[in-house]
Amino acid sequence: MDSTSYIVILFLCLIVVAVFLWLFVYPAWRRQRLEATPFPVEWDKIVQQRLPFYGAMSPELKRALQVRIAHFIADKRFEGCAGQVIDDDVKVSIAAQACLLILNRPSDYYSELRTILVYPAGFVVRHDNVDEYGLVSQDAHALSGESWSNGRIVLSWEDVKHGASDFRDGTNVVLHEFAHQLDHQSGATNGAPLLTDRHSNQQWAAVFSAEFERLQALAMSYDTDFIQMINDEVLDFYGATEPAEFFAVATEAFFEKPGELAVQHPQLFEQLQNYYGIDPRLWGH
Ligand SMILES: [Zn+2]
Repeated sequence: MDSTSYIVILFLCLIVVAVFLWLFVYPAWRRQRLEATPFPVEWDKIVQQRLPFYGAMSPELKRALQVRIAHFIADKRFEGCAGQVIDDDVKVSIAAQACLLILNRPSDYYSELRTILVYPAGFVVRHDNVDEYGLVSQDAHALSGESWSNGRIVLSWEDVKHGASDFRDGTNVVLHEFAHQLDHQSGATNGAPLLTDRHSNQQWAAVFSAEFERLQALAMSYDTDFIQMINDEVLDFYGATEPAEFFAVATEAFFEKPGELAVQHPQLFEQLQNYYGIDPRLWGH
């Protein structure tokens, strides 16, 4: 073997070692470093302000949440839009609520998500609609949040704060949009996130289909918010629009109105409890 061949082999070996270090050693080292770093006091104050039940969490869950928040902030890019400033309050407030969903699950920290775009308030999006004749029209909506499957989430800061200001009203834009992110991970946004085995998939499909159809029937017979209020339905009628929205709305109810959801829809509550691996009722919530 001549010296050129030795150099090529050595070069290939170096590439293999570098890839191994990058894929396996560096992430483990980084994870250990983040987990060993004390949670900043300023961040802790923000979490206390945004999550009223934080003080009632067990020390283990609190620490798990802190570690996830630190990972989330280290991994994701926050981008301010329309003049929105990105500071610790914005980052920690979003991360704290988003990490509730992955608090007790084997998690990859929303691996497909790379960027969180933050607007000061509701933002207008324009979507192309193509009719049956191929004609394209545009409609515009003001949104508080939007989740994309291309690694992006868009949020209105005003709505993020509003969602955190009342953790019992069943409405929370961060929980909603990040539930969509979990849903994307199965490859299709259809209200069926990745589950661990086939048996779980069958149970999930049976419970969610029945509950979705029930909510659709209810929403069709009563179509105003007022009727929803007097009807005492814990799930927002927006969940009746499609299965993906049903999962996001059910997630909001699970974290914000767990007691009512467990009483009104015990099977749905059980599925969500198994999926998220926690019981928000234990937070005295
Ligand atoms: Zn949605």
